[in-house]
Amino acid sequence: MKTIVKKFGGSSVANVDCIQKVAEKVALAHKAGERIVVVLSAMGGETDRLLDLARSVEDHPRGRELDVLLSTGEQVTISLMCMALEALGVSAISYTGAQIKILTDSAYNKARIIDIDKKRLNESLEAGKVAVVAGFQGVDSENQITTLGRGGSDTTAVALAAVLEADECQIFTDVNGVYTTDPRIVPEARRLPEVTYEEMLEMASLGAKVLQIRAVEFASKYDVRLRVLSSFEEGTGTLITTEENIMEQAVISGVTLNRDEAQVMVVGVPDRPGVAGAILGPVADANIEVDMIVQNSAADGATDFTFTVNREDFDITLKILREVAEGLSARDVRGDRNIVKISIVGVGMRSHAGIASRMFRALSAENINILMISTSEIKISIVVDQKYSELGLRTLHSEFELAQPNLTEV
Ligand code: ADP
Ligand code: ASP
Ligand code: MG
Repeated sequence: MKTIVKKFGGSSVANVDCIQKVAEKVALAHKAGERIVVVLSAMGGETDRLLDLARSVEDHPRGRELDVLLSTGEQVTISLMCMALEALGVSAISYTGAQIKILTDSAYNKARIIDIDKKRLNESLEAGKVAVVAGFQGVDSENQITTLGRGGSDTTAVALAAVLEADECQIFTDVNGVYTTDPRIVPEARRLPEVTYEEMLEMASLGAKVLQIRAVEFASKYDVRLRVLSSFEEGTGTLITTEENIMEQAVISGVTLNRDEAQVMVVGVPDRPGVAGAILGPVADANIEVDMIVQNSAADGATDFTFTVNREDFDITLKILREVAEGLSARDVRGDRNIVKISIVGVGMRSHAGIASRMFRALSAENINILMISTSEIKISIVVDQKYSELGLRTLHSEFELAQPNLTEV
């Protein structure tokens, strides 16, 4: 008997109708003999609604109480799903993160899963029940409720598949797989039948929110067979797997857009040892993650230090930098929220030269000015003005011939 973890995202359980449709799908698989663990998100938009509620009473809600609030969304869908399954004659039982001891660290709002007690789940599965688990939530060693960061239900599903040694973890969503780029922005985007863990990890961390980064990390680490599928139509979706399992590998597999970052700059700092540490130290101490970093020196012995942070950390980063700048006698501190990061990803880059120059040439042909560049073995990222988001994405998507053949030929 196969054990399958099936995760349904917010849009798949957006209302009672959707929940009933998902229940029918699960009931069919159950009748076909699968041992099934269902992982659910909150109803689409619910987590945002709860966040807005929190913001209406507090400027920057965070910490313990926010997690107590946000975790309620998933508790609604799991109970409704069990009722819908029972109505179809399928025996089902719901579990919150606390009830099956999804143990996490204590980092409220972005906790990491450490362990899951699979005993109760296995008992339910042995009894022929469908186990319906609340995604996105866990408890720390003090039994405090934690949440796993936005999109965290994906990670709950993969972690459960890992501990249960499931045959497959299926992520059901509103698209029928992972595409060469976000199909909502570039309709010509093509579904990838397969993609490597490595590429998926880059794509997820560079802006493709179809899977949470942690979920891909878990899947790769514990060898979980991971598949992205549509909740609403039949199909084989996208299998996320190892490079050896992929027959034909394109040079570039995907293009991503990240709108969540902002750029900050310390201008005219004396160019001497210790400057980078003096600037980034206080930023790191404030728990602010820094992404791309560029330092360029001028002939006059001064240097400009530019980097990107999450947009939510923009104001606080500027405040910290202004304090630092005084001590360093820097000329100025500047910032720009209206930037985006566009990246191309592909394991084929390892064995192909000239990808970067092709990327830059294509962008310059569209008069898109590049503000920052960073590269790694399998990706190249650029920062551009936000107004070039869609043009940049489309330009690179077509430059690397990622579109569906039948759409480009006409
Ligand atoms: P769910 O609520 O099911 O978790 P998400 O909204 O988190 O769904 O993820 C699905 C969405 O991810 C799609 O609707 C799509 O717009 C977006 N997306 C971004 N990049 C990609 C990509 N490369 N392939 C597929 N979907 C993508
Ligand atoms: N409900 C949570 C969110 O909206 C978790 C998830 O859907 O994966 O981020
Ligand atoms: Mg999601």
